[in-house]
Amino acid sequence: MAADFEAAFGKPPELIVRAPGRVNLIGEHTDYNGGFVLPMAISQATFIAARPRLDRRLHVSAVLLQRWATVDLDRLEHNSEEPWANYLIGVARELEIAGHPLRGADMIVTSSLPLGAGLSSSASLEMAVLKLFETMGGFELDDDEAAQLGRRVENDFIGVSTGIMDQLIIRVAREGHALFLDCQDLSREHVPLSFPRTAFVIMDTGVKREVAASKYNERVAQCRQALQDMNAILGRTAQTLRAFTAKELEVCRPSMSDLIYRRARHVITENARTQTASGMMKSGDATAMGMLMNASHESLATDYEVTGPSLDAMVRIAHTLEGCFGARMTGGGFGGCVVSLVEAAKVAAFSNTLLERYASETGNIGDALISTPSAGAGVVLKGAIS
Ligand code: ADP
Ligand code: MG
Repeated sequence: MAADFEAAFGKPPELIVRAPGRVNLIGEHTDYNGGFVLPMAISQATFIAARPRLDRRLHVSAVLLQRWATVDLDRLEHNSEEPWANYLIGVARELEIAGHPLRGADMIVTSSLPLGAGLSSSASLEMAVLKLFETMGGFELDDDEAAQLGRRVENDFIGVSTGIMDQLIIRVAREGHALFLDCQDLSREHVPLSFPRTAFVIMDTGVKREVAASKYNERVAQCRQALQDMNAILGRTAQTLRAFTAKELEVCRPSMSDLIYRRARHVITENARTQTASGMMKSGDATAMGMLMNASHESLATDYEVTGPSLDAMVRIAHTLEGCFGARMTGGGFGGCVVSLVEAAKVAAFSNTLLERYASETGNIGDALISTPSAGAGVVLKGAIS
């Protein structure tokens, strides 16, 4: 990284920051229902090497994309020619609006994360850039504020309507821990991941999530309908589906359409599974955790209908392989990644066989990442900043 920087700018970097990607272990499509999620930061990460400049310009090389951009900190506007640079511009713009001191820099950005695979390379890039500006400017946002800032960049500047989970886990993660996060009030707990002799295998289906955005909005609307139905039937004024139990849902069932009932059943049972999973992590019961992951996938496939043939095939094959405690789709669905909890000694055989069988069954080429729970965004190298 330092050598790449020197090759690009003729001097060594003064600062290197890192921000991880993330994978959600359980708690899918619960965030916008005020529910629980349980993500962990992964070993694969975005890295930025930088050297402050005396003017207010950013000269940035995106190594993976082989693209360059120049940004004037006094004219922070959308760049349609270099869309990747908008993640940096967006973060700088938010900091400028909030009145934080910004410094120009020469920078190279690189990553060991696959881009666009659902492991949140975008939030990772935002949190890396933020850490860089904080360190160069000598200020520090509080974690909630930092995550909210990243979310605003994603929602308002990039134009993708996402929740706050990605930025928050990437900002606050602790090595060896997942984060049990209550999306209603952002209260959270770092949960040690103590399954002995296991690893998480993350496998990209190689299928892009093209229909995901419209289907995502459709699911959000269906959950709103379920909330309205249940409030009317039970005479309640709940704000989110989080407020209801499985028992209450059964009371409502005869007066709800089957489709809306099933959507609500996924959300309510997934919340319960996620709460149980956070307890399982503390007790280190990999078998029980695996069963919860399997049940989560089943619910996403049949009740929520967000999986599709590739995700289902990969999960089905994973279940048949030795050493696999459990497997489920992770992320919004309709493509993207599967996460499996696997006995450490079997990881290589598991990954190879899964990739082979998945390719021969679906014709798609997958890709495996082996990950352990990593720390959140931080400074890797800091020289005397000039
Ligand atoms: P995901 O967040 O699931 O990886 P997104 O589509 O939200 O997928 O974000 C991917 C985009 O983020 C890329 O197309 C690129 O614009 C930007 N990006 C992320 N990491 C990098 C990087 N290391 N270098 C340049 N651009 C990056
Ligand atoms: Mg993203």
